[in-house]
Amino acid sequence: MLLEISDIHVHYGKIAALKGITAEVGQGEIVTLIGANGAGKTTTLKTVSGLRGLSSGAIRFDGRDISKMPGHKRVLVGIGQAPEGRGIFPGMTVEENLLMGAYARKDDPAKELAEAYELFPRLAERRKQMGGTMSGGEQQMLAIGRALMAKPKVLLLDEPSMGLAPMLVQQIFSIIQEINRRGTTVLLVEQNAQQALQIAHRAYVLETGRVVKSAPAAELLDDPEVRAAYLGGE
Ligand code: ATP
Repeated sequence: MLLEISDIHVHYGKIAALKGITAEVGQGEIVTLIGANGAGKTTTLKTVSGLRGLSSGAIRFDGRDISKMPGHKRVLVGIGQAPEGRGIFPGMTVEENLLMGAYARKDDPAKELAEAYELFPRLAERRKQMGGTMSGGEQQMLAIGRALMAKPKVLLLDEPSMGLAPMLVQQIFSIIQEINRRGTTVLLVEQNAQQALQIAHRAYVLETGRVVKSAPAAELLDDPEVRAAYLGGE
């Protein structure tokens, strides 16, 4: 397994946000975490990227224990994140924003820049535009493009469809699939369970800080309980 999350507990002060999450992501997979608001999806991603510390449990990545590794080092070993809320640099151009994603690399990022523009033609058209003047959907693309510039082994995506118009939602999900086809493993957190399950290989259902189900994504799409709780009961 590329990423192994073993029985992790995470607290915010006295509040237990994660109460023993165990999950795995294999090389080449798209794995999605679904669940209601507050179930612990974002916290799980933040713990993998090193933004939150563990109270107990362990995280292994690419053969090593990274439980205590600081976040900036996790980027260097291959964990890339496009954060919820995007976090792009508003006063920098699109191209400068993309290049910031490659800051820690010593080789020439020209190839990855070309690939980012190929995946997101809209960013290529707007390469000189200030990040802060891009639309919500464009900023989302920019955040994903920037994360890819670091050539991550796994890409962590937190609600990439949030706030996007329906047409853009489709587009973002097909781009995630394309990123995966090109070799990047993806761990995806989504409110939009239907779409997430359609592109994922496997999924975990989280409820109040625990995993209550894990299965191939196609199986969960047909699961009556999952349909009733997360897929609008259709
Ligand atoms: P959402 O889809 O609403 O973002 P989520 O599944 O991603 O939900 P988390 O954001 O991981 O859930 O939250 C898990 C629990 O931790 C919730 O009960 C939440 O209120 C709590 N929590 C999250 N961030 C903080 C914080 N900074 N301080 C205190 N409690 C927090």
